[in-house]
Order: sequence, then structure tokens, then C-alpha cells
Amino acid sequence: MEIIDISVDRFTYLSNQVSDSEGHGHPGEEHEATQTLTRIITDEGIEGYCFGGNPRVMEHIVKSAIVGEDPLYREKIWQRLNQWQRIHKSGLSDQEIAVVDMALWDLAGRCANQPVHKLLGAFRDKVPAYASSMCGDELEGGLNTPEAYGDFAQMNCERGYKAIKLHTWMPPIEWAPDPKMDVAACRAVRERVGDDIDLMLDSYHFYDRHEALFIGRELEKLNYLWIEEPMDEQSVSSYVWLTEQLDIPVVGPETAEGKHFTRAEWIKRNASDIIRGGVGDLGGITPLIKTAHLCESFGMRMEVHGGGPGNLHVLCAMGIAGLYYERGLLHPFIDYDKPPPWLHEIPDPLDSNGFVHVSQDPGLGLKINFDYIKKSKI
Ligand code: MG
Repeated sequence: MEIIDISVDRFTYLSNQVSDSEGHGHPGEEHEATQTLTRIITDEGIEGYCFGGNPRVMEHIVKSAIVGEDPLYREKIWQRLNQWQRIHKSGLSDQEIAVVDMALWDLAGRCANQPVHKLLGAFRDKVPAYASSMCGDELEGGLNTPEAYGDFAQMNCERGYKAIKLHTWMPPIEWAPDPKMDVAACRAVRERVGDDIDLMLDSYHFYDRHEALFIGRELEKLNYLWIEEPMDEQSVSSYVWLTEQLDIPVVGPETAEGKHFTRAEWIKRNASDIIRGGVGDLGGITPLIKTAHLCESFGMRMEVHGGGPGNLHVLCAMGIAGLYYERGLLHPFIDYDKPPPWLHEIPDPLDSNGFVHVSQDPGLGLKINFDYIKKSKI
């Protein structure tokens, strides 16, 4: 089998989410937005799919790296794209490599008639999920006060979640960030949900060491499960400093560049207690499963960053290293369980006990609405 082409369909949809000037998503006025579907096409008629992908990058960089290759040689293709980043620094991001890698895993699953987690060596078919909130806002009835976080946490517990993660207030909100407000929100949630729910905080990412230490010590009193990315991850020494002093597990790195190589360095320096990374941060399923095995070898957990089918399949193939699936981002005004128009079903359905179930269909198991995409193509 040979790859003969890679193509990207761009299509429109109506979105009720907007990005603020810092890039954080919030509920907003309905407007037209665009999405893409990347497809890898073979000479045997089998295709692999992944949503996302920049048409220009796929056409001008990736195409020449993969056309003519056997699509089952995922490692070979991943290594080549990783090396090509050296000369295509601004164009070929880890996110673009992740899209190619996931489309290749999808294709392999469709060939073997097996879901991706079983190709990876399955460990489980469902994972407990945490409700991951959007960042704080100033919307009445939204996430505008500590009490509002308490209300939303209670709603999510009633929905079945056994764990909740808060993203708190960040710029461009005028008074944010504020460590005391972060702690107030964390306290309000703990008081509302009681002691049996796991709670985590993912706050502003550019606090200084002492602000991060203050928040971490308060979260210890509130029995939080972890503190995530409270400082700039480019300063590994700051994380070594923080991790040394706190009892609460520090989770990272999430956004630091360098794939599994960076995670290995953080482990070696004791810069965090729990490693972090998702398909988009690392460059696909191929490096994410390597990172899981790396962490397992050091007796460390890796909490997978972000939702979606790629992360879910890896979580179902990781032994004991990852506790939770990140489901979200959630907000009182947004119906997460309603599939977007390009899918017939969401890839991460939640049961009443707070578990997300992985698809048993071949590949990534996406229920793609090809008719919608064709109709809405640009
Ligand atoms: Mg995070």
C-alpha cells in the first residue's frame, strides 16, 4: 500500500464560542467559523482522517514527505517530519505533525479493522473523566465569581463527574490574574462538592514563584489533587524550586516545546511530580505513547492534556500511568454533549458514573458527517 495524496477540506459551521484577545475560548454570539478535515489517501482506496490541519502546510511541506511511503510506516514518517521541523521551523508545528500522525493511525485501524487503542495494546475501554472548565469570565450566570464555580461544579457532579478541574481568571479580564481569587474559587468548589471529588487547578500560567507557592500551599489545605502550569514552563528551574517545596503534586510540562525529549529532561531534573502532554503538544499518538512508557519506567504518572479521540485512545492503552481524561472545555452556557455539525456523534460520551468510553470502531472511530462537510466546503 502506498500514500498517493494528502488533502485538506476547509468548511464552515456556526459557532457559539469566541476567543478573547489572549486566545481563551468563551461562550459568545453565534458566528460563522471554519474547520478542516485532513485526509491521507492511498492507492488501495483506504483513507485516514483527522480534523484540523493547515492546507498550506500539508500541501507544501507534508505532501513531499509522505507521498510514495507505506502508510503503515508511521514511525518512519514521524521521524522524518520531526527532523524536517529543523528547516521548516515556522511552518511545521507539532500540531500539524499530530494531525498527520493521527490520520495515519486512523488509516492503520481501518486497514486492520481495529480501534487504535487495540493497535497500541489496549488496557481498558473506559476512563474516568474530569470536567474541565473554561477560563473565568464576567458573564452573569457564567464563571464570574467563586460561587459560580461552586454552582457549576455541583451541576457537573450531578451529571456524573467524579473530578473537576478549574481554569480561573486570566487577562484580558482587567483585575486578573489574582492568586487570592483563584484560591477563593478553589475553596468554593471544595466546600460545595465535599471531600470525595478529586479537584485540580489550572490557573494563570505566568505567576512568579512566590505566587505559585502561595496558591500551592492553599490547595494543599483544600486537599486538591494537583496544581498545573502556574508559571512559565520555559523556566525549568522555577518548577524544580516549586516542586521541591510543595507536597501537592505539580503537573507539567504541558506547553513547553520539545516533545518527549523535554519530558525526559523534566523527569531527570525533578521539575514536576506528574508529567503532562497530549497529542497536540507532542506531535501525535506516536510520541504520546512513548512519553507514557517513559513515565511508567520512572514510576511517574502522566496526565494527558486535552480531549479528543487521539488522547482517549492513548489513555485506553496506557497502563496505570494516567488517571483521568480531560473533558471540555465546559461552561454553563455550552452544551458539550451536542455533536458539532461535522460529526454524527461526539467521540467522548460520558456515562452516569463519570466514565468516558472509547469507540470500538476501526481507527479513531470518528463518526464523520461527510455530507455536511461536502455541503459546507469552501
Ligand atoms: Mg493545562
